[in-house]
Amino acid sequence: MKEEKDFKTKFEKGLGYPDAEGFYGRFGGAYVPEILYKCVHDLQEAYLPIIESEDFRKQYHELLKDYVGRPTPLYYASRMSQKYGCKLYLKREDLNHTGAHKINNAIGQILLAKMMGKTRVTAETGAGQHGVATATVCALMNMKCEIFMGKTDVERQHTNVERMRMLGAEVHAVTTGNMTLSDACSEAIRDWCCHPEETYYLVGSTMGPHPYPDIVARMQSVISEELKWQLQEKVGRDYPDYLIACVGGGSNAAGTVYHYIDDDRVRIVLAEAGGHGIDTDHTAATIHCGTEGIIHGARTLVMQTDDGQIEEAFTISAGLDYPGVGPMHANMAVKGREKVFAINDDEAIRAGYELTRMEGIIPAIESAHAVAVLPKMTFRPDDVVVLTVSGRGDKDIETYLNYKL
Ligand SMILES: *Cc1c(COP(=O)(O)O)cnc(C)c1O
Repeated sequence: MKEEKDFKTKFEKGLGYPDAEGFYGRFGGAYVPEILYKCVHDLQEAYLPIIESEDFRKQYHELLKDYVGRPTPLYYASRMSQKYGCKLYLKREDLNHTGAHKINNAIGQILLAKMMGKTRVTAETGAGQHGVATATVCALMNMKCEIFMGKTDVERQHTNVERMRMLGAEVHAVTTGNMTLSDACSEAIRDWCCHPEETYYLVGSTMGPHPYPDIVARMQSVISEELKWQLQEKVGRDYPDYLIACVGGGSNAAGTVYHYIDDDRVRIVLAEAGGHGIDTDHTAATIHCGTEGIIHGARTLVMQTDDGQIEEAFTISAGLDYPGVGPMHANMAVKGREKVFAINDDEAIRAGYELTRMEGIIPAIESAHAVAVLPKMTFRPDDVVVLTVSGRGDKDIETYLNYKL
């Protein structure tokens, strides 16, 4: 069968977890300017004792339950199951407060920032989803919040800018480079260099210098923690045959797979954004098209020119529009632990409509990339497939409606 050939069932253990220096195989690490050494080192020393403390865990779980609305449902999608010949379950991260999985991470890191005594929070954002999540938790915790966002994105994601301002955040429109997410990250790092003492830089995905990829993966790991007992309840075993998620920087995928990385009964399938196609210049499929390089403090797969200039990513999905990918997924993909599909814009839009019409769930276009994996797979009727719907599509309605299929 197709999948027997495609999927490794024997692999090295520990591929998704960093070593003491923050390396996942040859990816990761902390490549930061000297002025940030101390900040990054302090964070490396502080994060594990804090997030493993009783006090942190209690506050984090209470907020996830009462504020975010967790646990999110694991929903059996019966019509889609029938269509694809498997048992398809949707992990409903779209039902979280603020509309996506990003709030899981923002809640965790704002508690970490508080416990480290920081007074000012900064964040980068592309589509504005992470900016909104960060502005939300800053309002909740009464922290000063400054968001860096490319000017191009400020213009095309206007509602999210207004949400952030309403929540009390200051939004800085970044005018360097292409004026998109990658430039916003660079600007947030520059700002951090200027105010290292009081600032907590709240990174939105499993990217950036060590320990951020590990922090974000741990904060999102609540997704697979819930999957274990939800699957036990629904199918009588605590693991699925397949896990499917979309990957931009890699945080919802990291959370979905976290507690199954070393379980060789579980096959992991990711969808990255192909844009117009991986054989065109208009793509964000970093795992397919990237080469090794350093971006925003980590060694990973990067879309770059031969002389190391970062190339602009292209996809219809603002949340996947990043020319790098988290080091954890770079490592798992090159070692064969994750199978990665590049999903083109039109496939994602079609899949978004399909989920909408068959299950009454309008997914974020990011999440629709994961749905578009289904027709590319061959399942057995008893296969339990868990697909993470990372966010809801309210923000994308115009893009769906204006797209010419
Ligand atoms: C930001 C975003 C993503 C991509 O980020 P990851 O860190 O790869 O998860 C995916 N889906 C939604 C809804 C998002 O907002």
